Amino acid sequence: MTRNHCLRNFGIVAHVDAGKTTLTERILHVTGRIRRTGDVHDGNTVTDFDPSERSHGITINAASVRCDWQGHVLQLIDTPGHIDFGLEVERSLRVLDGAVVVLDGVAGVEAQTEGVWRQCDRHGVPRLAFVNKLDRPGSDMSATLTAMRARFDVEPVAIQWPLGKERDFVGVADLIHQRRLEWRDGELTITSGLPAEALAARAALVEMGDHFGAGSDPTPEGLVAALREATLAGLVVPTLGGSAYKHRGVEPLLDAVVALLPAPKDRRVGTADGEALEADPEAPLAALCFKLEEQTFGRVAMVRIYRGTLRRGEVVLHPRTGRTFRVGRLLHVFADRHDEVQALAAGEIGAIVGMPLGTGDTLCDPSHPVALEAIAVPEPVMRVALEPRSRREQAALGAALAKLVSADPSLRLETDPETGQTVLAGLGELHLAIALERLAAHDVVVNAKPPRVAYREALGQSVEQSFTLKKQTGGPGTYAQVELRIEPAEPGVGLVFEDALRGEELPRHYLPAVRAGVEQAMQIGPIGGYPIPDARVTVLGGKAHERDSSDHAFQAAAARAFSLAAAQSEGCLLEPIMSVVIETPGDRLGEVIGDLGRRRGRVLGMDPKATTTVVRAEAPLAELFGYSGALRAATGGRGSFSLSLASYAPVPGSVAREVLKSSA
Ligand code: GDP
Repeated sequence: MTRNHCLRNFGIVAHVDAGKTTLTERILHVTGRIRRTGDVHDGNTVTDFDPSERSHGITINAASVRCDWQGHVLQLIDTPGHIDFGLEVERSLRVLDGAVVVLDGVAGVEAQTEGVWRQCDRHGVPRLAFVNKLDRPGSDMSATLTAMRARFDVEPVAIQWPLGKERDFVGVADLIHQRRLEWRDGELTITSGLPAEALAARAALVEMGDHFGAGSDPTPEGLVAALREATLAGLVVPTLGGSAYKHRGVEPLLDAVVALLPAPKDRRVGTADGEALEADPEAPLAALCFKLEEQTFGRVAMVRIYRGTLRRGEVVLHPRTGRTFRVGRLLHVFADRHDEVQALAAGEIGAIVGMPLGTGDTLCDPSHPVALEAIAVPEPVMRVALEPRSRREQAALGAALAKLVSADPSLRLETDPETGQTVLAGLGELHLAIALERLAAHDVVVNAKPPRVAYREALGQSVEQSFTLKKQTGGPGTYAQVELRIEPAEPGVGLVFEDALRGEELPRHYLPAVRAGVEQAMQIGPIGGYPIPDARVTVLGGKAHERDSSDHAFQAAAARAFSLAAAQSEGCLLEPIMSVVIETPGDRLGEVIGDLGRRRGRVLGMDPKATTTVVRAEAPLAELFGYSGALRAATGGRGSFSLSLASYAPVPGSVAREVLKSSA
């Protein structure tokens, strides 16, 4: 068990290619977690990782790895590099207490830097910034700080300044302790004194410290205390610099993580009832399962303990199912191994072996039931139909898909109600492509149709409809009569089911069957067979037969009544509209906007920066297939974008005809 003030749960977030992977590997190396990985950092050419690093890549991408630094335990939480995986980012932001935002010292603030920054803002995550690649030509610490100031609502404050530029970048000046840290041949040497440029940066730091109560001539301790408070309050972002690739600036970054980012006790976690829990290891248990992982010995559930202590052999409550479990093996996860432990205390992250948990589940003390705030799962917007190549492969496919979906709840498994095909639904083209790759990695090969947009249908006007099911086939008959009124309902409300029965004509114990029939019919809308997610349905009347009526008959009659009514309701086809944030070089703005227009996009706003423009737009998902390639071509590879679901909107008539023709 670890004392929780010595713990730091933090994640590294960045725009793709800023150097997150390289930095993570360097951190695991300096903390002694992995052996030296050869001399990749000595070369001047920027090559990809060598095979040993590549093989580490898998373990480094574990949900969380522990390492030790100067008497503290760092729990490094993996956050995905691609913002497409909304859920992965959200769930890691839930379990980390602080973040290091890696910026490319040449490119500065990029589209996804802004994306992850805003996500951290939303979760109130205090952060440090690390300006990476200071060894590269064109890198500029001061310009990066200026870009951060212009783009974000907080004040970045340099606590380090580069020593030497580009090829001559040798280390950093530590502005707090007024010393020079230089790395030569992998060795760190520390000398005192600051060069002139660093002194100017220190003056700005001292001024900031003064503002937060450190005084005008602060001690290093006073400055750190003031900075820590301002960082935890989200008022400043201490900014460091270095070159992960050349191994420069990594150790002081870890010192800053310990000194300036929050310990678990500095944070509160919310419950579903809006209570805020404190990280007290002696209080009743509250833990969150945030990820399921396949390990060589089986599946483990990664948990973060928010309050109390999870002990092996103790009985805990799983509030979602109301069941209790005895806690089995508990593990600490390191980059290259697992250690068994007897307990995990508040603030710690670890793995539980052999418990049937799902992502977002709480575990708690049976005598103090509590549910932690759930992890919001984004709606899938795209579907792909999967066909196993043989009957034998069907079983393997089912098992592999079940695993995939329980590990990533933003993937959903459905059955096409018309064709009976297995359908995988996800957050976008790339999300589904990666899911299929993972299946292939488990030797489950499927014939996947091209992915399709998840259309929906909406009801138009109110319709009343009665249906009588009557069959007489020798033995006992089948009889049910149902009269319904169906009306459109607000998006997102689902089925609003109302009972307006007056007399005893339809015994109320058949109502659940009527509801089930309606729900079944809502899966296949009259326009193109797409689901109708929202409807208001009122049961107006009906009739039962003493002998021949059954739940089954009422379910079938209600389904028919709903379908007949829906067909007369003159509803419409709905399509997912995505919110698109694009960053493009200013000189390519015209092409990017023109292309958006051809994709039925609507520009909502533009934000010109020094050399780039951020375009905020909305466009139908159906028109965004292959968008990353198109943007790359339009911007010479310099543009970037992110997507998230904005709403569902009616498909214009001519487009709807095309959609229906191709899905027929
Ligand atoms: P990620 O996508 O953020 O994980 O970025 P990577 O760590 O994979 O780095 C992207 C590329 O930048 C790789 O080719 C790295 O070798 C290179 N890189 C990362 N850090 C540095 C650095 O500090 N200096 C230089 N020159 N290249 C770097």
